Order: sequence, then structure tokens, then C-alpha cells
Amino acid sequence: MRFSFLTASILCAPLIVCAAPTCSNTPAYTAADILVRDVLIIGGGATGTYAGVRLQDQNKSVAIVEMTDKLGGHVDTLIDPISHLPIDYGVQAFFDNPSTRLFFNRFNVPLMNVSTSAFPSTVADFKTGYIMPSSDVDTTVPNLSRYLAATAQFTGLAQGAYDLGNPVPADLYLPFGDFVTKYNLTDVLQTAWVFAHGVGNLMKAPTLYVLQNFGQAQVLGLSAGYLVPATAGGNQEVYDKAAALLGQNVLFSTKVVMSLRTDSGSLVLVKTPTGNKVIKAKKVLVTIPPTMANLAGFDLSPAEKAAFTQWTDVPYFVGVLNDTGLPNLTSFYNIDLTDAPTYLPADKFVWRLETTGVAGYQTVKVVGEPDSTKAKKMVTDAVAKVGQNYGVTGASTTFAAWEQHTNLGLSVSPSAIKDGFYANLSALQGQKGTYWTGNAWCSDYSPLLWGFTENKILPSLLK
Ligand SMILES: Cc1cc2nc3c(=O)[nH]c(=O)nc-3n(C[C@H](O)[C@H](O)[C@H](O)COP(=O)(O)OP(=O)(O)OC[C@H]3O[C@@H](n4cnc5c(N)ncnc54)[C@H](O)[C@@H]3O)c2cc1C
Repeated sequence: MRFSFLTASILCAPLIVCAAPTCSNTPAYTAADILVRDVLIIGGGATGTYAGVRLQDQNKSVAIVEMTDKLGGHVDTLIDPISHLPIDYGVQAFFDNPSTRLFFNRFNVPLMNVSTSAFPSTVADFKTGYIMPSSDVDTTVPNLSRYLAATAQFTGLAQGAYDLGNPVPADLYLPFGDFVTKYNLTDVLQTAWVFAHGVGNLMKAPTLYVLQNFGQAQVLGLSAGYLVPATAGGNQEVYDKAAALLGQNVLFSTKVVMSLRTDSGSLVLVKTPTGNKVIKAKKVLVTIPPTMANLAGFDLSPAEKAAFTQWTDVPYFVGVLNDTGLPNLTSFYNIDLTDAPTYLPADKFVWRLETTGVAGYQTVKVVGEPDSTKAKKMVTDAVAKVGQNYGVTGASTTFAAWEQHTNLGLSVSPSAIKDGFYANLSALQGQKGTYWTGNAWCSDYSPLLWGFTENKILPSLLK
């Protein structure tokens, strides 16, 4: 590796900050503070954890830099203190694909099939509390064959990657509402919304982002059924086991402060709870959403900056409610009766009040509202409105858990999609010894992210 001025500044970073003693006469770091690894992985969510385990199993040395104190990212598991049952209010279920089996089998975590919820559901307009008569609610999954036929042309999206082709098909940057009209797909709207509500306004979102949430892989996954871990620890368990396996190779509560990435190796300065460390790695694998804020401290190239400054995101909160007073073990699905003909809530809405099968609790998701206090108020208002039907005010509702999930639905403008944004993004792979995976590069479902990482990224990274 070429020893440049920047390299020196990383190794001497604390000295530069402190101004004395000088770098020339005092080594900045002891050997214990310099980690030498084959691969440095940024982010310990589903993707980073999977990559770390797979690489370590192939005798590669790894370090994972994770800013929180746990692995798993969007996994949120609450254990009910009374029943000791897990409530997964973040990531819930997984498609059955080889990567899913491989990952859970690696940790002897048994999986079981789930299909539709065994609990009753009620459709209500959360703004007014009006409950739809069950005779007006069709809960059958529509025939998705026409939808599959309309989406099958986008072969590069089939496994979740953003391989859009060149030129980019115009359908992909069409608002999804126009795509639905063009292919006469109105009957799949409600089902598409279940998967793709995170895009915010389903009808206005570019079709690409709806298909990345509800495309060929999701339709086939839906027909095959889903897998959940059959364990007391819920979805968090496999990540806790992975953390135990990876041991000190995971640096928790740690962030990158400065980096120098080159084709022949990288030096990355990280801030850990016990002080700064330098990681010297042959390759860097970034799994976090590549926003400018997340990548502060990275030596971004002009091409990286040009891509990463274009993202927009839809705010997303999740929570677990206790003591709502609403009927127990029942889910409530939100519709907007003022929004004919789709009746889909749009822009800022409470998605569902949903039972996970643990008495006394309902999980909730709020889409589009960035302010936590306002998002919580939307939830308590919805409980109060729906509660009118049951003689409850919702005043006793407590939040047993509440989390924000940021950068969930990274998107760019239709014109950027058209102008080859995703081809430019893909061209960043391998530059400066850095590889990229995660939800900016692949559909945001764990099994697809694992498959993409396994089949598209790790082979190139290991060359
Ligand atoms: C509420 C919710 C429900 C979902 N349900 C499902 C589901 O049922 N099935 C499914 O397959 N998918 C589901 N998903 C999608 C989910 O995002 C993916 O499945 C997958 O978990 C994404 O993993 P990831 O590692 O790519 O990203 P993340 O989970 O976002 O992980 C990124 C990790 O990097 C860390 N990090 C971020 N920035 C930095 C930084 N600057 N420095 C260091 N560390 C950083 C984060 O703390 C996090 O641990 C759901 C998502 C949400 C939010």
C-alpha cells in the first residue's frame, strides 16, 4: 500500500487533534489498536452479519463496525415479560430461499412455515373510526398471474438487484398508478400495498420502487409461504448467536471517523467506546444505507458523492402498543374512504394495528411522518377513533416499544432512474477496494439481500 500523507494523518489522527506530541516522534497507536483484516464490514444488520459469518467461514478475517450495541439492524424483538413470548415488531418473516436456510442452519435456529395470520382482522378507516362491514371486505389474495406477466419483462429485478438494463425501460420510472392502468392491474393494488406501503404514496411512486417491494421474488415468496424462527428469542436470536460466533470481530457502538481507501488496501480510523482504533483491511464491504450522513468520515470519490447525494427517504416508525382496549388478538387494517377509487392511505398514515399472537399487544407502523411525537399522536388518535366502536377511548394505551427506522426506502427521482442512476451506482462496485451491498443495491428483504451478497458481491470481493 502506498504510504501517503492521508495515511499518515489516519495513523496520527488523535495527535493531530491534540496537537502534541507530534506524530514524528510518538507512535499514535499501539499494536493492540491496529486491527489487520481481510475484510472490514461497515454495518451489522442482516446484510453485514451474513457477510461477516460467510467470510469468516471461508477463513477470511473480518471486522464489523456497528454503531449500535447489537447485531440485526431492523430486527426488533420485544420479549413479553409475562408470557415470555417474542414480539417481532421489526423484521418479521423470511422468504424460503437457499441463503435463508443456510444462515439459520448455520446457527441451528429452526424455522417454521407461516402462511396467513390465524387471527381475525377488521378493516377500518383510522381517520374516522368507521369499520367496514365484513361483507364488503374481500380478504382473498387476487390472482397474481397477470401482475407476474407484467413484471416478468424486468429480468434484472427478479432476484432483487437493481439491474435495470440499458436503456432503462420507461415503465420503471412511470408512476405506479399509471403502470397499474396500463396493464389493468387494479385488482392487485391492496396486495401490492401490503408489501410496498413503505414507499409512502403507492400510486405516485416510480414503478421501480414498488416492484422492488412487491415484484417477482415477493409474489413467488407469497405463494410459497414464509419462514419464521421457531425459537423463544424471536428474530433477534440468530443475530445474538452470530455476535457470539464473531466475538471481538464485531466492534459495537463504533463509527468510522476517517478513511483512506485504495485498490490495494484501506486504512480506516474508527471511534470505539474504548478509544480510536485503526483497521487495516484488504477490502471494505459497506452494507449500511449509503447516505452522506452515514458515510461522514469516508473519503468519498466524486462519483460516490454524485450518487449518494441524490437519495430521498420515507420516514418510518414502528412500535408495540399495550392496553389499547381494542379487542384482543385482533388486527386492524387502515383504509382511507375519502381516497376513492383505491382507498389507500397515502403520504402520512398509520399502516396497521396488528396482533402478533401475544395477548395484550398490538404492533404498529407509521409511514411518512418524520416527527416522533406527531407519529405517536397519529397512533393514539387511530386507537381512539377505532376504539369508539368498542366503547374505549384509547387513553390507557402505552408504548411498550417505539423505534425509528431510517433510510428504509431510499429512492431517486424518475429522471435519475431514466438517466442511468443505477448503472452508475453499480459501477462503484470494487472501486477504491470497496464493495457495496444493502438496500440501496438490492430489494430490502433479508433473503434477497443475503442472496445478492452471496452471489453477486462476495465472489467479486474475494477475487
Ligand atoms: C419494520 C420493518 C419490518 C421489516 N420486515 C421485514 C420482513 O418481515 N422480512 C424481510 O425480509 N425484510 C423485512 N424488512 C426489511 C429489512 O430492512 C431487511 O430485511 C434487512 O433487515 C436489512 O438489513 P441490512 O443489514 O441491509 O440493513 P439494516 O438492518 O439497516 O442494517 C444496517 C446496520 O448498520 C448499522 N449502521 C447504520 N449506519 C451506520 C454507520 N454509519 N456506522 C456503523 N453502523 C451503522 C445499523 O445500526 C444497522 O445495524 C423490514 C424492515 C423494517 C424496518
